[in-house]
Amino acid sequence: MKKKLWISLIFILAIMGLSSVGHAEDKTYKVASDLTFAPFEFQNKNHEYVGIDVDILKEIAKKEDIKYTISFIGFQAAIDQVQAGQADAMIAGMSITDERKKSFDFSDAYFTANATIAVKENNTSIKSYEDLKDKQVGAKNGSASYDFLQKNQDKYGYSIKVFDAADTMYESLNSGSVSAIMDDEPVIKYAIVQGKAFKTPVPAEKIGEYGFAVKKGSNPELIQKFNSGLAAIKENGTYDKIIANYMEKDQSDKNNASDETSFSGIISNNWQQLLKGLGYTLLLTLISFGLSLIFGTIIGLFSVSNIKGLKWFATIFVDVIRGIPLMVLAFFIFYGIPNLLQSILGTEAPLGDFTAGIIALTLNASAYIAEIVRGGIVAVPTGQMEAARSLGLTYGKSMRKIILPQAFKIMIPSFVNQFVISLKDTTIISAIGLVELLQSSKIIVARNLQSFKVYFIVALIYLVVITILTRFSKVLEKRLK
Ligand code: GLN
Repeated sequence: MKKKLWISLIFILAIMGLSSVGHAEDKTYKVASDLTFAPFEFQNKNHEYVGIDVDILKEIAKKEDIKYTISFIGFQAAIDQVQAGQADAMIAGMSITDERKKSFDFSDAYFTANATIAVKENNTSIKSYEDLKDKQVGAKNGSASYDFLQKNQDKYGYSIKVFDAADTMYESLNSGSVSAIMDDEPVIKYAIVQGKAFKTPVPAEKIGEYGFAVKKGSNPELIQKFNSGLAAIKENGTYDKIIANYMEKDQSDKNNASDETSFSGIISNNWQQLLKGLGYTLLLTLISFGLSLIFGTIIGLFSVSNIKGLKWFATIFVDVIRGIPLMVLAFFIFYGIPNLLQSILGTEAPLGDFTAGIIALTLNASAYIAEIVRGGIVAVPTGQMEAARSLGLTYGKSMRKIILPQAFKIMIPSFVNQFVISLKDTTIISAIGLVELLQSSKIIVARNLQSFKVYFIVALIYLVVITILTRFSKVLEKRLK
């Protein structure tokens, strides 16, 4: 029985591992992009990602016969993934800067854009950088605007608020929680055309032209193909058509045209996306919780064992895992380990976000379950073990037949509790770009800017699911008793 479990476990992990490793011949490149950076990449009302970057890459790939998948995960996340070898390349309105050339190889430039300050339309006090003194200015993590603001912070005396994604940054300017933001000029101009009441009172800064990027020294053939494809679509007019399509027209017919201002509109437009996210959330929870029941119990048994080595192992494991925040653990596994392997093995060893998420959640929950198991066993009066042993039962048998059944009853409520915590912890995995329920709602908000309503719906979904599951486990608990 136990053997079977182990075999199937190893099997599952092997499949996961294999499915996340790309094949060398006939390679499908993984391209990473920003979460939302209209008009370069953003979701239209049909939930398709469109934009200048998306179309340019599509046309070039067609010309050059490049196979690729593209994921929209956020600017800094894309940078991290390319550097860790999780993605092969990125296209995200990325400015070619000297600093970045140290760790990236860029294609030829495909667009020129400056960065500029935006304030609310009715603001009259900010006309220059000097006017930003003691004010809060927003910028996106990892962006050229952020670098610029940081370099000039002492000179002008503002404070910087860092945002992960453009949607929250633009919302914050809208709601007045920051006085100004800095972002690429075409993106701000586009937002204004889309109806945002912003203006750009300060002259723009040169931050470099946009390029398609790979990690320095990797995938040179991809850069070559991109360059020749770019030249071809510039030559035949496709490039100009793409730019004109997004720059010169009011996009309101393509973007945000559907009514997403009401709860019912949001739900009817997005229920599929939310359901899919919920599916991932449940899958993450069930798989990781199942695995941690196994590992956690083993480690819990180690911690009450008479063998010193096992006890030590259990203590160290629990202390280390409990001492690391789950998000750090997830970053470490998703970005850190492949990066380390890459420098040791010399080849890329990417790990899928789902696999990384499962590993992080499993390690984390195992530590807590080990403690629950230890606590349960310790709570059984010592007389029980002594009595069993004096009847001539071995340690193992006494454990299995006498102690564990009693301990298990004590543990059940804590298991239910840990299950709920595990489900909620899956939201943390959104930070590595896995599109579970929270991440899928973030993508929806990035498009329709209805943060209150969308997050309200999502909170409700979590609440309902968790309530149902706890009720269900309460019934189970009674049965078991
Ligand atoms: N062009 C800016 C940069 O490279 C911003 C890019 C982005 O936010 N996607 O930093």
